Amino acid sequence: MVNNQPHTISRICCVCRKLQPVTNMTRVVRVNGEFFVQTDKRLQGRGAHVCSACLDSANLQKSLCRSFKTQLPASILQQLTQK
Ligand SMILES: [Zn+2]
Repeated sequence: MVNNQPHTISRICCVCRKLQPVTNMTRVVRVNGEFFVQTDKRLQGRGAHVCSACLDSANLQKSLCRSFKTQLPASILQQLTQK
């Protein structure tokens, strides 16, 4: 079977809604009610992707809250914006 999958996986950024390669993105994951900023580990759970350009966005918190339908801990937002 010929599987012509592109090597780069793309995801929609939850802030700007543009399709971006995941290598250019940060993933926020919620596992059992706890939030994590995913770097290179594979975490199971509900996640949202943010592209590098949107980490500085004024809409970052609002968009993530909308994606998870809950408030994000301040520590998670700090981790995101420090990068
Ligand atoms: Zn974006």
